[in-house]
Amino acid sequence: MGRAFVYVVLGGGVAAGYAALEFARRGGYSRGELCIISEEAMSKGGGKPGGAGELKTNRDDMLLFFACGTIITQFMPCDSIIERVFLLMISFVSCQVAPYERPALSKGYLLPEDPSRLPKFHTCVGANDELLTTKWYKEQGIELVLGTRVISADVRRKTLLTATGETISYKTLIIATGARALKLEEFGISGSDAANICYLRNLEDADKLVNAMSSCSGGNAVVIGGGYIGMECAAALVTNKIKVTMVFPEKHCMGRLFTEKIADYYESYYTLKGVTFTKGTVLTSFEKDSTGKVTSVILRDGNHLPADMVVVGIGIRANTSLFEGQLLMEKGGIKVNGQMQTSDSSVYAVGDVAAFPIKLFDGDIRRLEHVDSARRTARHAVAAILEPSKTRDVDYLPFFYSRVFTLSWQFYGDNVGEVIHYGDFTSNSPRFGAYWVSKGQITGAFLEGGNRDDYEALSMVVRRKTKVLDMPELERQGLAFAIQE
Ligand code: FAD
Ligand code: NDP
Repeated sequence: MGRAFVYVVLGGGVAAGYAALEFARRGGYSRGELCIISEEAMSKGGGKPGGAGELKTNRDDMLLFFACGTIITQFMPCDSIIERVFLLMISFVSCQVAPYERPALSKGYLLPEDPSRLPKFHTCVGANDELLTTKWYKEQGIELVLGTRVISADVRRKTLLTATGETISYKTLIIATGARALKLEEFGISGSDAANICYLRNLEDADKLVNAMSSCSGGNAVVIGGGYIGMECAAALVTNKIKVTMVFPEKHCMGRLFTEKIADYYESYYTLKGVTFTKGTVLTSFEKDSTGKVTSVILRDGNHLPADMVVVGIGIRANTSLFEGQLLMEKGGIKVNGQMQTSDSSVYAVGDVAAFPIKLFDGDIRRLEHVDSARRTARHAVAAILEPSKTRDVDYLPFFYSRVFTLSWQFYGDNVGEVIHYGDFTSNSPRFGAYWVSKGQITGAFLEGGNRDDYEALSMVVRRKTKVLDMPELERQGLAFAIQE
C-alpha cells in the first residue's frame, strides 16, 4: 500500500505551514503533488467547554469518528473485527490538526478570559499572513496526511513508512519534524507521567495544562526550569490565580540569554506578582497521593514544595532520529547548507531540526529553536527547491522574543562579547536594553518595552555589525545609538 508525491513535508508544525504558504505563492506544483504528513493531534473538545477543537457538534464528532476510522482501518493491515473496533476507538479520542502557531500555546491559549482557540492561530497568522485552515489546503490542492506518524525513512529509496503501514514516496523531502520536550526521566527522575504534571509542546499538552489550571485555582504550582517555557507558564499560572514557585539550577532565569541585570528585573517583577524563586537547585523526586497525583516536589537540598500541579520546561531535543546514520548531523540537528539542503540533495531540513550556517556569524552552524527561524528557513527551502538558480544562500539574523504579563522583549543577533546596559530598569512599564559588543562591533541587542521602530533600528545595527568606538558613549546613548544610525 503506498502513495507517491513529488514534494513531501514531514512534520505539521510552524515550518510546515510556512512551507505550504511559500509553495502556494510560487505555484510550483500541481494538485496532488504536494503533501504534509503530521502526527499531531489535539484532545477532543480542548481545555474548555466548546474549547480547542474546530469540531463542536455531535454530528461533526460522528463524521470524524467514521472518517478517521475508515481511513485508518483501510491502511492498517488489521485481521479481526476487534482490531478494527480498537483502531476506530483510537481515532475517536484524538482529533487531527493542521499546522498552527505553536507560540500561542504558552500565551493566548492559557489566558483565563477569552483564551485563543483554533482555528484562530493556524499558520500563518503569526507573521500577519494568511490563516491556513484545512479548507485552504484543500483549495490549494495540498494533501494533509494528519494524525499520521512516520516511523522510518529510507533516504536512498526516497520513502517514508507510516505507523499505519503506508509507504509514502517523494522526489523531494522537506524535514520539518521540530523537537520534543525533554522528560524528567531523561535526568533520572521518575513519575513525570502523573495527571497533574504538565509539559508543553503541543495542543494535547496545552489542554492538559489548561485542565490542570482550572482545577487548581488558589492552589500551588511548581514550575521546573527557568527558560522560555518556565517563564511564560509561570506568568500564565499567576494570571490564573495560582501561586507559583520556580525551581531551576542556574543563578538566574533565562541563563543562556539574559545577563544577571536583565534577569534581576524580570525576577523582581515576577516576585511582585507573587512568584517565589528557588534557584541553584533541582528536584530529585515527587511525593504522590494514593491516586498517583503529585502533592509535593522534593528538592536536592531536602526541601519539600507543596504542589497541586507541576509544569516542566527543561529544554528540548530535535526530532532527528528517523535520519540518524543517513544524513549528516551537527549541533543536535540535521546539518544543511545555505539552501537548507541536507547531505542528500533530495532532502531539505527546516525549523527547529535544522542546523544551518549563519552568514552574519561567519558561517557558524547554529540550530535555532525559535519561530521566526522556522518560518524563514521553511520559506527559504521552498524557494531553493523551486527556483534554485535564483535563490541565494540564506542570510538569517537570529531573532528571539517573549511576552509575559504586560512585558515584551526582543533580541537580535548573538549574546557574545562585552555587555553594556541602558535605560530604565526600575519602572513597571520599563524601557531598557543591552548591547553585546565584540571586536569593536555590535553582535547582539536586547530591548524590553520598545516599539516597532526601536526594534527595527536595533535589528539594523546588529545586521550591519555597527562599529563601536567608545563603550561609555554607547552606554550613555543607549537606544538612541541604534535609532540615529
Ligand atoms: P514544530 O512546530 O515543533 O513542528 C514539528 C511537527 O512535526 C509537529 O507537528 C510534530 O508532531 C511533527 N512530527 C515530528 N515527528 C514526526 C513524525 N515522525 N511523523 C509525523 N509528524 C512528526 N518561539 C519564538 O520565537 N517565540 C515564541 O514566543 C515561542 N513560543 C513557544 C511556545 C511554546 C509552548 C513552544 C512549545 C514553542 C515556542 N516557540 C517560540 C518555539 C517555536 O514554536 C518553534 O521554534 C517552532 O514551532 C519550530 O517549528 P518546527 O516546524 O520546526 O517544529
Ligand atoms: P529552555 O532551553 O529555554 O530552558 C530550559 C531550562 O530548564 C533552563 O533554565 C535549564 O537550565 C533548565 N533545566 C535543565 N535541566 C533541568 C533540570 N533537570 N531541572 C530543572 N531545570 C532544568 O527550554 P524550555 O523547555 O523552556 O523551552 C522549550 C523550547 O520551547 C525551546 O526551544 C524554546 O525556544 C521554545 N520556547 C520559546 C519561547 C519563546 O521564544 N518565547 C516560548 C516558549 C518556548 P540550563 O540552562 O542550566 O540547562
